[in-house]
Amino acid sequence: MSMQYALAGIMTMISDNLQAVQARIARACAACGRLPGEVRLLAVSKSFGTQAVLEAARAGQRAFGENYIQEAVEKIAALAGPDAPPLQWHCIGPIQSNKTQLVARHFHWAQTIDRAKIAQRLNDQRPQDLAPLNVCIQVNADGGPTKSGVSPEDAVALALFVAKLPRLRLRGVMSIPDPQPDFEAQCAAHRRVREVFDAIAARLPSGHGEFDTLSLGMTADLEAAIHAGSTMVRVGSGIFGARQYAAPAP
Ligand SMILES: *Cc1c(COP(=O)(O)O)cnc(C)c1O
Repeated sequence: MSMQYALAGIMTMISDNLQAVQARIARACAACGRLPGEVRLLAVSKSFGTQAVLEAARAGQRAFGENYIQEAVEKIAALAGPDAPPLQWHCIGPIQSNKTQLVARHFHWAQTIDRAKIAQRLNDQRPQDLAPLNVCIQVNADGGPTKSGVSPEDAVALALFVAKLPRLRLRGVMSIPDPQPDFEAQCAAHRRVREVFDAIAARLPSGHGEFDTLSLGMTADLEAAIHAGSTMVRVGSGIFGARQYAAPAP
């Protein structure tokens, strides 16, 4: 097969996969009486190149998630420019202090806020000519000590701190629950995150603005996440295919 045909095949695949994922979202919404418009799709493009992102963008996808800051910044730069489609970039990987400046400058969203120090740095480093950075609190609802994310007990206090930072806009909660063997167990794990979201919503000052994002669910468990109230599913392999790389250091 020529290079050109091979590439054309990949492109059809991405646009077909996007349609299939949108159909899964629509079916999952219908199954629990929600409207498909209530759930946004974040395309997780980590490990895939600019060509794959562009193809998804041509198929109408606008929001992309990346885990590794350096990889993401290179992609964002390569895909910027006057003729480029207006893409929205979400940081969904761990953020170390020495990477906050890159996140503050290049992303529209940071979903992995799990401590006050990182939130404060993002706030202080967000350029004045950009809109406030949309952020989510990352919650570790399974309690595994090695996982990123704030505990459910500490999530409300962190959220109230973040809500006061003028250059950040607290939009919701994100989580990566441990894999579960079946739908019921997936739903239960997702509901624990939903409860944290509701607890924060109940404590935010009136006039906070949009607190509308429950970022939950990936390729394997998006139906259960939608059942539990997810408003944003993060799908990588379901759109772009299996990832091939050993992850670089964050
Ligand atoms: C990689 C990743 C995803 C996408 O996972 P898939 O199983 O490929 O859909 C979603 N969220 C986060 C935080 C990820 O790191």
